[in-house]
Amino acid sequence: MNTDAGTGRSWFRPAFLAAFLLASLGASFVVVRHAPEPIVCWLLETEFRSLAEKWRTRTLSQLENSTRTFENQILTDTDIQLLSMIPKVSDYYRFTFIDTEGNTFWSSHPDDIGKSDMSHETGQALARGEVVLLHLHVNHGENEEMDGHGVHLYDGDHRTVYEIYVPVMDGDTRLGAVKFHTDVSSIHDIFLDRVSRWISVAVGIILSLMLIAIGLIIRSSRIQLKNLENRTREEREMMQRQMRLAREVRLLGELNEWLQSSRSLSELFDMVARFMLHILPESEGSLYVYSNSRDVLDGSASWNGGSHRDHIHPEACWGLRRGRSYHYGQSEVDFACEHTEPNDGRPYFCFPILALGETVGLMHLKRHADATEEAFEDSRRLAQMCAEQISMAIANVRMRDQLEDRSIRDPLTGLFNRRHMLDSMRRLIAQADGNGSALHTVYIDVDHFKKFNDNHGHDAGDMVLRAVGDLLIKQCDGDEVACRMGGEEFMLLLPNLTLDNLKERIETLRREVTAISVRYGEKALPKITISAGIASYPAHGRMPQDLLRVADEALYKAKDNGRNQVVVAELSEPTEATPQNPPPKKPHSLGAE
Ligand code: GH3
Ligand code: MG
Ligand code: MG
Repeated sequence: MNTDAGTGRSWFRPAFLAAFLLASLGASFVVVRHAPEPIVCWLLETEFRSLAEKWRTRTLSQLENSTRTFENQILTDTDIQLLSMIPKVSDYYRFTFIDTEGNTFWSSHPDDIGKSDMSHETGQALARGEVVLLHLHVNHGENEEMDGHGVHLYDGDHRTVYEIYVPVMDGDTRLGAVKFHTDVSSIHDIFLDRVSRWISVAVGIILSLMLIAIGLIIRSSRIQLKNLENRTREEREMMQRQMRLAREVRLLGELNEWLQSSRSLSELFDMVARFMLHILPESEGSLYVYSNSRDVLDGSASWNGGSHRDHIHPEACWGLRRGRSYHYGQSEVDFACEHTEPNDGRPYFCFPILALGETVGLMHLKRHADATEEAFEDSRRLAQMCAEQISMAIANVRMRDQLEDRSIRDPLTGLFNRRHMLDSMRRLIAQADGNGSALHTVYIDVDHFKKFNDNHGHDAGDMVLRAVGDLLIKQCDGDEVACRMGGEEFMLLLPNLTLDNLKERIETLRREVTAISVRYGEKALPKITISAGIASYPAHGRMPQDLLRVADEALYKAKDNGRNQVVVAELSEPTEATPQNPPPKKPHSLGAE
């Protein structure tokens, strides 16, 4: 992102620097060309003003008596002789003595004597004791004006000449003035040239320094910007990490809460599939749980494009075989689990699911085709936590199932107990009501069992009861319920059967019981028989107690008729058969309550 933005503005910096360089060069050209002139003039003027005062002293020192000369305006021959030497050895080529009225009373240029060309302003400035410096511009053709002085030093078209008036004082009394003419053309040009060069060098140095400074500023601001961008990116990433973590913690909490409230394994598998889709979107997943027989794992759930087999053998998974999570696709040499065949090479995790130290299943997570390797690797810790939560939840549901099972089953035979039979009867009556079908109750009692116990012992009796129980369990399908009412008495609840079918099934059952063969120690126990009484809802009663009582009466009749037989209750009986109006015969043992 940053690189793109940088590339987009990459033309900006060189263009800016080039524009700056051009502007600076233009500005420095203007500065170098025009700035020195007034500076040079000012410097020269200042210099020549003080120089002129020295010239005045030197010139007047050639006079025998300068005060008198100015007062009387008369020069001696000696004065004139000495003064005529001065232009040859001085920087000024002409000098003139002027009285207080502005009249030239002597000059090194005799044509000037007697002239009075001083301006009024000059006269006033001299009266104030000031030195007056005037510029004269002399054309090249007027060299003779300068008395041939210094002509060879300068070959320009125009010459610059200073006309300098210096007052001559005697104490506070003004005696007059000395006017000097000096040619500054060459010195002006040399000076101007030098100053221009200095300024050029200075401007060059300043420009270079400015460029360096700008470069440094740009560089440091770029570094600062980069640091700021890095910091912002790091902060953003940290915030995203924290938000992801918070979301994971929240989802894990919710998963835990939902799993704890699941009432069955199938409900739990549904929840796992739904949650994993959100918690681990970078994985295709599947869940296997050990079957009750513990020889295979049943495929129980899959999500996010994952698939599971119906069953897998524990040996088919390296995770289960090694007893710890297995990460395929991490090492240089890897072996794919058999249950992942055909393997497309995508990396995966196999997490054994452990509960209370026992392996209860396997969670298999394969990198989703759309997920990056990095995201998949990063999800490992979270996946491990999910596997742990799922383990706990499976253990809880199993434990609850076992407890519930214990509370509704008879421990000797594994059949449902009397309490569960009554619950089932109410449920099946409501169901029969709903679809207008019948519900048959079959009361079964082992014949002469007391005698059997007496002859072969209680343990042998228990074995026989267990064998009868196994037979009854095998008899029941779907909604059919088999229970042990207590002692050697059993009850079958059989919905959705015609009476003929029912009678046929119970007859078959009776015959199969007589065929039960149980070995007890060295010997085979004698065969047993059963008697059965049948009552049907709604024909023989609408309440469970009524049906049980009528079935028990039918059983009583079967016993009475000689045992080892099935009796269906008569239809006339239930109308009179109410608790207030009991049947003539005494009900058989554990009859209706
Ligand atoms: P009938 O043919 O009239 O049913 O005769 P019966 O002897 O089977 O009937 P009775 O009710 O007199 O005896 C039931 C016997 O069942 C009494 C008891 O010894 C035996 N019994 C009850 N519960 C158990 C048990 O849990 N195990 C064993 N081995 N015997 C039991
Ligand atoms: Mg009995
Ligand atoms: Mg009996």
